[in-house]
Amino acid sequence: MKILTLNCGSSSIKFDVIETDTDLIKQNKDCSIVRGIVEKIGLNDSIVRFNTDAGFDSKKILPVANHTEALKHIVDILTGSNPKILNSLNEINGVGHRVVHGGEAFSKSVIINNEVLREVEACSDFAPLHNPQNLKGISVAKDFFPNIPHIAVFDTGFHYSIPDYTFMYPLPYELYTKHKIRRYGFHGTSHRYVTAKAIEFLGLEESRSKIVTLHLGNGCSAAAVLGGKSIDTSMGHTPLEGLMMGTRTGDIDPAVVIHIMNKEKLSAQDVDSLLNKKSGFLGVSGLTNDLREIEEAREKGHKRATLAIDMYCYRLKKYIGAYMSALGGADAIVFTGGIGENSSVVRELSTNGMEFLGIKIENSKNNRNHGVLGKNRDEISDISTSDAKVKTIVIPTNEELMIARDTVLCIRGII
Ligand code: ADP
Repeated sequence: MKILTLNCGSSSIKFDVIETDTDLIKQNKDCSIVRGIVEKIGLNDSIVRFNTDAGFDSKKILPVANHTEALKHIVDILTGSNPKILNSLNEINGVGHRVVHGGEAFSKSVIINNEVLREVEACSDFAPLHNPQNLKGISVAKDFFPNIPHIAVFDTGFHYSIPDYTFMYPLPYELYTKHKIRRYGFHGTSHRYVTAKAIEFLGLEESRSKIVTLHLGNGCSAAAVLGGKSIDTSMGHTPLEGLMMGTRTGDIDPAVVIHIMNKEKLSAQDVDSLLNKKSGFLGVSGLTNDLREIEEAREKGHKRATLAIDMYCYRLKKYIGAYMSALGGADAIVFTGGIGENSSVVRELSTNGMEFLGIKIENSKNNRNHGVLGKNRDEISDISTSDAKVKTIVIPTNEELMIARDTVLCIRGII
């Protein structure tokens, strides 16, 4: 089956056409036929980029007024003659949509109908920057593909299994019953994908497996996965909690927020922007949110870049230890996402000194260039020493493949 996956943001739509089937595990080859992005939607210099498995690369800068026009560009790419990708749009069997927040309503991916749309809309309160955009993407895509199933794949879905004592905050209980204030967790599609890959790669028995997964990109989260099910994750009610990130704080004392608001005379909106957009690597280093540049500055002796990396890795290490405790040990620690896949510095600093827990990485293996994003998407590397009790592995994530696979499973009525 050929599946179109769409990831719709406020000013961008990412797309991928994937030839896939139900068996993710057997499907090791990268089966994406074409992938791309329409960026800066609404501006005069929007960017339409794509590349194909046959090696064709294209980038155009032109005005794209809205999401409907953006999807029209995507449809034109799929049905164009140079390069030839599809004979007709009828070859697409389903559309898989990334939806950020499924709240307590969705434990797994579902075929989109009016009731699903209403529930996703109801979750917009929890993810005001994401769910409305996801809904817009679904509505526009239904206009272009009215006769095939559309499936919603939720970032929160994989964490549906975490128990109440993990997802509750120690606040007055009524805040949960009235407003559904609780941990939901995000990046679920990625944590689920690398969990399945790790189990296959290490030959583990799923029901007995214990894995700590670390999705480290611009947003970062850790998950404790027991028997293939998430039992804890670092992001919370929103994607702000947990690990330090590119521009987000991760965990801080909530009283600091009130103090800053008073001292700096900040509104709730100001402080939201401070915590989400001006903190993390960017805020500490004063340079950038991009780890590559922070690593370069650290090499040159930049003190705050060094501090930012030290903080990031220390906090990551604490989560690894905590999640190993939650799991009662671990078979593996999995690094994924732009940072997890590419930064040997982060992998080394966040795991050193953890021999007492059985984690030991081999420098020569760690320093190899792993899973260059978009290229060796199937390369899995074991970077641990041969005697390490806990395997440390690097797995390039592939959320699009997971979305496509769920779409096929929903269409076939398997999930
Ligand atoms: P997103 O969460 O937006 O999908 P990515 O998963 O692409 O982001 O991760 C982006 C992060 O990965 C950035 O901080 C970037 O600097 C970092 N990164 C990518 N390649 C490297 C590299 N070779 N070395 C260190 N960091 C890298």
